[in-house]
Amino acid sequence: MTRAPLHPETIALHGGFRKDPATNAVAVPIYQTTSYQFDSAEHAANLFALKELGNIYTRLMNPTHDALEKRIAALEGGAAALAVASGQAAATYAILNLVQAGDNFVTSTDLYGGTWNLFANTFKQMGIEARFVDPSDPQAFARATDEKTRAWYAETLPNPKLQVFPIAEVAALGRSLGVPLIVDNTAAPLICRPLDHGAAAVIYSSTKYIGGHGTAIGGLVIDGGTFDWAAHAERFPLLTQPDPSYHGAVWTEAAKPMGPIAYILKMRLTLLRDLGAATTPFNAFLHIQGLETLPLRMRAHCDNAVKVAAFLARHPKVAKVIHPSLQTGEARARADAHLKGGYGALMGFELKGGREAGRAFIDALELFYHVANIGDARSLAIHPASTTHSQLSAEEQLATGVSEGYVRLSIGIEHIDDILADLEHALEKA
Ligand code: PLP
Repeated sequence: MTRAPLHPETIALHGGFRKDPATNAVAVPIYQTTSYQFDSAEHAANLFALKELGNIYTRLMNPTHDALEKRIAALEGGAAALAVASGQAAATYAILNLVQAGDNFVTSTDLYGGTWNLFANTFKQMGIEARFVDPSDPQAFARATDEKTRAWYAETLPNPKLQVFPIAEVAALGRSLGVPLIVDNTAAPLICRPLDHGAAAVIYSSTKYIGGHGTAIGGLVIDGGTFDWAAHAERFPLLTQPDPSYHGAVWTEAAKPMGPIAYILKMRLTLLRDLGAATTPFNAFLHIQGLETLPLRMRAHCDNAVKVAAFLARHPKVAKVIHPSLQTGEARARADAHLKGGYGALMGFELKGGREAGRAFIDALELFYHVANIGDARSLAIHPASTTHSQLSAEEQLATGVSEGYVRLSIGIEHIDDILADLEHALEKA
């Protein structure tokens, strides 16, 4: 009997791990070890030569990390995944795995500020050019592409504009040119599966919804396994030419016995090995715990967010609310084409009273936490004009979609009446 594929709610609990092979433990154990005893000289030699798969050293692999990697790969419909120390490490490795000094990649302008800095400044210092293009014009990605372009990059639901990126359209264009689209899906786990829309790889800051409780930093990279690197060999020398850092391995060949995982295999065995942004068994455990209830939490986050957006839109002190549930036209059509089961729980709104109203609102909140984070089970708020965006000029702030009276919310899973009461009370003071 063939069984139907499992649903996300089930994969979140069962994916990638049945029981601990050593103890039969049902919860994923925290394998707090740096190293693993080799059975014999031959066993060690085989592991290093990739003739056999197994544990060598926790910077490279660990059974707790492995359970998280398998589970997220299953949830995303990917071939394999890699857990790393942070979302920043995930974005860094996702690009450096394909792009080297003298190369370029094309990226949406609508990015998390940390990613923007990484791309515009740190990568530039490394001789890598990030070409920024307007995400509302898919053809802009093609126009910015040349023979040195190794990847395209975007976020599914970028803050603060919260306009869903046209993943399907851009990914298809990229595939026609032999360029993979890498998508940061941090703001939309479960409600969007970028690989289903043609992305080649997905990254997460698992610090956010996946961890879900504001307890641990982490990042994930998922290899879709559907991009044919060898078919565009000239574009991807790092994957298709002998790698001097791994005794001449050609990653597209070396991966063959293990499946279509050249991208993630190379990332683990070169970038994670050399740059060392490994996660920890404890943090991986926390993010496995988070994944187990992610379907329930995402539903609650999204349901609350729609109600908050409607409430704010009716409020006399609010000039504008930014949330996909309130969008119309093309933006809404893109949201509906890419998101299932909710519109996410990030939201922005503009206070008519401008900067001072924004500050007064934040100071009056009692339930919402005032933090520089998103995706916690608790409701969070920040006033970008006086914090994350304070170094930008007024014009630059507006270009990123942030006005003086703009407030960002990350709606949590508290009872909706308590969330609305806190907002109502703070708006009175704004
Ligand atoms: N990507 C997005 C969309 C984010 O919001 C963040 C952090 O806020 C990151 C990446 C970076 O992740 P981390 O803080 O885990 O390094």
